[in-house]
Amino acid sequence: MKVAVTGGTGFVGGRLADALLSRGDEVIIISRSAGNRQQEREGLVRVTWDELAASAGPLEGLHAIVNLAGESINQKWTEEAKLQILQSRLDAAEQVGKLVASLRQMPGVVVNASGISIYGTSRDAAFDEESPIHVNDFLSDVSQKWEAAADLIDIPRLVKVRVGVVLARDDGAFPKMAMPYRLFAGGKIGSGKQWLSWIHIEDMVRLLLFCIDNNELEGPVNASAPEPVTNDAFGRALGAAFHKPHWFPVPAFMMKMMFGELSTLLLEGQRALPRKALSCGFEFRYPTIKSAMEQLAKHK
Ligand code: NDP
Repeated sequence: MKVAVTGGTGFVGGRLADALLSRGDEVIIISRSAGNRQQEREGLVRVTWDELAASAGPLEGLHAIVNLAGESINQKWTEEAKLQILQSRLDAAEQVGKLVASLRQMPGVVVNASGISIYGTSRDAAFDEESPIHVNDFLSDVSQKWEAAADLIDIPRLVKVRVGVVLARDDGAFPKMAMPYRLFAGGKIGSGKQWLSWIHIEDMVRLLLFCIDNNELEGPVNASAPEPVTNDAFGRALGAAFHKPHWFPVPAFMMKMMFGELSTLLLEGQRALPRKALSCGFEFRYPTIKSAMEQLAKHK
């Protein structure tokens, strides 16, 4: 199979590219920058958006496109950064649509990333793919507009993967979340009652492959483990797995002072359930936070 991955140089995309290569697929990474020869491995090619705008030739014969590209949300949310976070995702979806339209033979599926933030934040509700979209903050607005842009791609099958917080030992949000625990200063953030819907990186990659391969899957798919947890329960599980105390609460006002609007990421959340993936037979390797933390703590 020939699969293109935008954002394939990033945290999730890089792991996905590795998984595709190791099962024998051909991978084309679409990037803003050209790769060097050392980065190219057998079966992996890197092309730039600009090269493809001139000629989509390298994408002929493509089976799937996974669109993960977007400016990192892990930065201070200045007005300029917020614009870039949104616009980079709208542009990538639009470019993917143009590439698909320019190919002689259309790929069978586009798997487009989105966020579980699309359901808005809530302390009480649980959200599956049937739940209504609720825009109540910056991230829910970005996810809603990102999905609307993906909906414009003319493709036989579009999967919108609503991603929770992806947990990996050395990349993404987890190392930062674990840092206070390493310094014996871990504890709940704010009230600790806010929900955190998470997914282990291995399951994230397996679920993306499942979305590519499984013709039944279409539309929104929550990419989060079946056991979302509160911030307090997450911290307790982290502390237990890493043998560190969970005792040093960080008040909400301090988070707001330190991180500004970005603090909403940690102070608010939503409880998402992966109903669609489960009903299509996807099996999580790390369904509980205990199992995920134990794996993350393993290679100390
Ligand atoms: P990364 O930030 O690691 O990678 C994103 C990639 O997007 C980069 O490698 C880069 O590729 C490309 N990119 C970065 N900035 C821009 C820009 N301004 N314009 C166009 N392309 C850009 O993200 P992750 O791998 O962590 O996540 C993948 C997607 O999943 C993201 O869109 C993210 O929002 C979403 N997601 C991730 C979550 C997580 O916990 N990791 C949670 C929820 C959603 P290059 O430099 O090669 O162009």
